[in-house]
Amino acid sequence: MTVTDAATGSTATRGRPWASEALHRADPQIADLLAAEAERRAETVQLLAGENLTSPAVMAALAGPLIDKYAEGYPGRRHHTGCALADAAELLAIDRARELFAAPHANVQPRSATSAMLAAYAALLRPGDGVLAMSLEHGGHLSCGSRANFSGRWFEFTGYGVREDDGLIDLDQVRDLARLHRPKAIVAGSISYPRHPDWAAFREIADEVDAYLIAAAAQTAGLVAAGVAPSPVPYADVTVAATHKLLRGPRGGLLLSTAELAERIDRAVFPFSQGGAAMNEVAGKAVALAEAARPAYRAYAQRTVDGARVLAAGLAEAGMRPLTGGTDTHLVTADVSPLGVSGVEAERRCAVAGLLLGKCALPYDPAPPAEGSGIRLGTGTVTSQGMGEEELAGIAGLIGRLLAGEAPGPVAERVRELALAFAGPR
Ligand SMILES: *Cc1c(COP(=O)(O)O)cnc(C)c1O
Repeated sequence: MTVTDAATGSTATRGRPWASEALHRADPQIADLLAAEAERRAETVQLLAGENLTSPAVMAALAGPLIDKYAEGYPGRRHHTGCALADAAELLAIDRARELFAAPHANVQPRSATSAMLAAYAALLRPGDGVLAMSLEHGGHLSCGSRANFSGRWFEFTGYGVREDDGLIDLDQVRDLARLHRPKAIVAGSISYPRHPDWAAFREIADEVDAYLIAAAAQTAGLVAAGVAPSPVPYADVTVAATHKLLRGPRGGLLLSTAELAERIDRAVFPFSQGGAAMNEVAGKAVALAEAARPAYRAYAQRTVDGARVLAAGLAEAGMRPLTGGTDTHLVTADVSPLGVSGVEAERRCAVAGLLLGKCALPYDPAPPAEGSGIRLGTGTVTSQGMGEEELAGIAGLIGRLLAGEAPGPVAERVRELALAFAGPR
């Protein structure tokens, strides 16, 4: 089987830039580790929601000469000389991001989605300000108020959550908490919520209490780009995206904002929270954004969602309980407690058989957070490899067999066959 997805690259272009002679000679230990990692990836089925396969064109840009360019500042206003070509690359990335997301302003420099969140807060808030965001127990990211993260140390977070009966965001609670606490910003977006936030409703609540609205759309930005998810951009003051998840670009973040906030957003990235941008990553983001504008990517995003729906239905059939009853995205979060196992045990049993997914604690989870009652899966990587509904139905069945207590041997054999059939050339 070869890589069939046009946006992921043909067999001819899916290269192994890390497998060079130069690396083997200079550092055989790292070269061997990378070879083993490629092997590990080829033999396992990757269902972690935040990972994907970086496209070969993006990898080529990442390995290109801009890796060495110091370019503090922004196009046309750099602190370093020799930046004309770096400027051109960054302007391409900015223009493509603005066009793809219909956003008045884009900043392509954040090194991660968390750094982009930091910049969003820095642009809008002062230390001590109140923020209303999804609670961590219900699916908020660490950057939404964890005490272990800058967010929880520097701002006063209040958490909203989902309803216990249907698992959907409780907008009445969001409104009540907003009226009570009058936060300076409201954050919508999650790492595990499988439905689309009601962006218009969040905007209305934010307007009522005169708060900024931040869309934490790191997980779903690719679906928005493809037009298979409603866009937060017309509603949010600032939208935070990740470029390495469904967008299949370099590891990094992306900020979109209103024109009004453009200057504040830019200054919140550089010089407030970062130094010189990684210009090879900026070039890689430009490539990923161009790829995401193509019809092949739109088709990929739709297949990713279709596959996730089949996966959710299959897990339900095998006795698990998908939160909200299913999904509108690439994400499936499922309660595995009906099968008598914890999230940790489910992750472990699947990993033994080569199925990589994430344990997670669920909203209202009675289990200790370290155990959790849930698993979280995403279909981004397997869809990039060319798997579809048929394979995902099969994967759901394999997970069901493992969690029901079947010995891993035969399942592991099937997983390995499936993985190798879709691994593409190594
Ligand atoms: C993945 C994710 C992040 C963190 O992304 P990093 O690039 O690892 O910092 C933040 N917020 C949300 C909602 C995410 O899904």
